[in-house]
Amino acid sequence: MSGVPGKVYLVGAGPGAADLLTLRAARLLQDANVVFYDALVNPEVVALAARAQKIAVGKRCGAHSTAQRFINKRLVDAARTDGLVVRLKGGDPMLFGRAQEEIDALHAEGIEVEVVPGVTAALAASAALKVSLTRRGVSRNVAFVTPRVGESERASDWIASAASADTAVVYMGAREAAMLSRELVSRGLAPDTPVAVVEDASLASERSHTGTLAGLETLATRLGAGPAVVVIGQVLRELVAARRDAEPGALRKAS
Ligand code: SAH
Repeated sequence: MSGVPGKVYLVGAGPGAADLLTLRAARLLQDANVVFYDALVNPEVVALAARAQKIAVGKRCGAHSTAQRFINKRLVDAARTDGLVVRLKGGDPMLFGRAQEEIDALHAEGIEVEVVPGVTAALAASAALKVSLTRRGVSRNVAFVTPRVGESERASDWIASAASADTAVVYMGAREAAMLSRELVSRGLAPDTPVAVVEDASLASERSHTGTLAGLETLATRLGAGPAVVVIGQVLRELVAARRDAEPGALRKAS
């Protein structure tokens, strides 16, 4: 595989744990001549690219557009000169990762692109909670949304999608918990809708907090500095109830 000229692989690094990489991703990293990686990618994963030049690009919460244009240009240049180029992105490259801009820029220059999927944060969070995002009679659809908008974009109607979905997973929004809960309640979601916040899903530092939409802001104050998603929906009902019952305060109240 190595030495293929002029090709860029957009590779999903998964949510954090290195052994959640696909075999294809691991093999491409081993063969890569140059790897451009996002700040969120686990250093252990980057280190698999033993012989590649490794270049950190992008800010934690997505590069602004000037930086994005610069990244696009560097990818084009690298594809022309370096053979096998890997663009490593957290989770799945095709979700909230500006992948389309990179694909379009590469195609515009006649450079071949291949995409290697990865485990996205929502699915790692579902695994962490051991709660299925879909469930017979409870949830038949899942919305992946983000309140984050780019510089020149208008605020998209993410709230409507999140409010109408059976299950919603909010990316890049855990630190705007007060706004999330206010907006969703104003769209008609019950204040006691079950929610979970999952931080560092799949890593040793993984943590989750559960509660209700009305209490989301308080839950979010317990977050550390890691990336986090908010999961919202009735699929979480049993988990939220079980954890509430397990809390010492709740036990005291019951006795
Ligand atoms: N392409 C990525 C998402 C990039 S946006 C994917 O498919 O997962 C970055 C956001 O993803 C973070 O702000 C956070 O909301 C979420 N995220 C990434 N890794 C995470 C993790 N290990 N645990 C929880 N949320 C994570």
